[in-house]
This record gives sequence, C-alpha cells and structure tokens, in this order.
Amino acid sequence: MPEGDVVWRTARRLDRALTGRTLLSSELRWPSLATVDLSGRAVLGTVSAGKHLLTRVAAGGEDPPLTLHSHLRMEGSWYVERTGDPRGRRSASGTRAVLATPEWTAVGHKLGMLDLVPTDGEHELVGHLGPDLLGPGWDPVEAVRRLTEDPDRELGAALLDQRVLAGVGTFYMAEACFLARLTPWAPVARVADPAAFVALVHRLLDLNKDRADQVTTGDLRRGRQNFAHARSGLPCLRCAGTVRVAMIGRPPQDRTAFYCPGCQRGPAPTDDGRPQRPLGSSGRPGAGRSYRTRR
Ligand SMILES: [Zn+2]
Repeated sequence: MPEGDVVWRTARRLDRALTGRTLLSSELRWPSLATVDLSGRAVLGTVSAGKHLLTRVAAGGEDPPLTLHSHLRMEGSWYVERTGDPRGRRSASGTRAVLATPEWTAVGHKLGMLDLVPTDGEHELVGHLGPDLLGPGWDPVEAVRRLTEDPDRELGAALLDQRVLAGVGTFYMAEACFLARLTPWAPVARVADPAAFVALVHRLLDLNKDRADQVTTGDLRRGRQNFAHARSGLPCLRCAGTVRVAMIGRPPQDRTAFYCPGCQRGPAPTDDGRPQRPLGSSGRPGAGRSYRTRR
C-alpha cells in the first residue's frame, strides 16, 4: 500500500537503473499499450509526483519524447533485476511492464495504472495534484491554502485528497491526525496552526523516504514504530487506551482511519462494525487476517 515516500523511493530506484541507458526492449502488458515498442529510445529519467511515477524516454525518429506514467495503487511495485538474470521474475503473471536496458531490467508488477503520453502533456495526468510533499518544488504555502480552503471538511478526508497534498495515504493520514491530537473526522478548522501541521506532514514523509520501515514515533522497534495505523485493538502507545478503526469518506471512496479516542479530540463514528483488532500479528497492515486496509 504505497504512499508518497515509497513511490519516491521507487522513482529513485528506476532512475538509477535506467537513466542514460537505451532500451533494448519494452513490453507493456496493458490493453491500450500492447503494440507499443520503446526499444532504441534512451531513458531520460524517472520522477515521482505524489503517488504517480513518470518515466521519460527520448524522442524516437519522428515521435516526440514520451512519458510512461504508472501508479502503484493497492499492491503494485517496480523492481529491478539484472538483464538476462535466469532467476528474474519477469514472467510472473502480475507483470505489467518490462523495460530492459543492456545492464538492468525494470519490471512493473501489478501496476494499478499505466499510460503513455507525450512528455509535454504530463500535466494532463498530474496537473491536478496539490503540492508534492517530496517534490523538488514543495510549496508549503500553497499546501496550507489548499488544506484550509474548506474549513468544514473532515481533516482525514482533506489529507487523503491528492489535490490538497500529493503523497499522503491512510498511514500518514492516521499518524498526522494522531500527532495533531485530532480525530480524522474533526473539521479542518480545528487545526490550531495549519502551517505547523503541514510542516509536520512533510517532515513525516521526508524522514521516511530513505528507509523501508515507516516510523512516526521515533522508535524503531517493531510494534512501536507508529501510533495509530493498523493498531486497532492494541493499547495506545501514549495513553494505553484502545486504538480503534472506522471508515472515512463515502463508499466506494471510503478508506480506513485508525485513531485513539483517548488522545484525539473531535467527532468519531460510533462502532461501525469494523473489527477492532490488529490486521496482523506484526501489527502492520497487509499481514493477513480478516480485511485489508484501503489507500
Ligand atoms: Zn491514546
């Protein structure tokens, strides 16, 4: 369930493996792109924009420079393997894209979205996004403006809206609300210092962008790495009360929101039937059990 930090790291991995190299072959296993062949084009780079990935390739003959746009959605990933590695996983059924250079091959697995557009048309794909928390042009002033535009909106819903801030998913939403001591259902107007709050969200993603584990407590030990997300049914690390989970937003766009009723002020749903227990024995999402978190 990748959020902005994971997508940023994925972009860096692809960038290091492919940039400056020429594609030997490409396979895009996507209905609208099945006949596309990018071989012979040089890869110019890969960047992230919020939770979107943009891999740019040079012009090919008469054709303009192109951008391969991908989104990981729920369970997508890109991995890199040595070209020709017999242990490579590229034949796996979930493979959606293969970009091979003489040295490295990037494989897109279970991608949630794949498009190819002229690079000068990228804005049509990502132009709607709010300030990118990990982008080079991070604009906290604009982020505050967008966050506070609708003061009655639920804070958690505003944080998940990529037009407000690009890169936040349910993990950082839950943790930021916990640290602000507001429930995800509290109106944005309850945020005492929006500039400080936006800076906090930025810091959370920025601190985690270089490491595999997402930590919001400063404590690297398993089970103590974050306050609320995927900890329902467990004692709160701050007050020892029970962390809870409910949905935020309207179906089918609703998402899971974890919170501590003892630490966080503001409205919260009454028991909506969600199982109030951790998702997996490790306390992390995706470890199995009865339902999965949605981002
Ligand atoms: Zn608590």
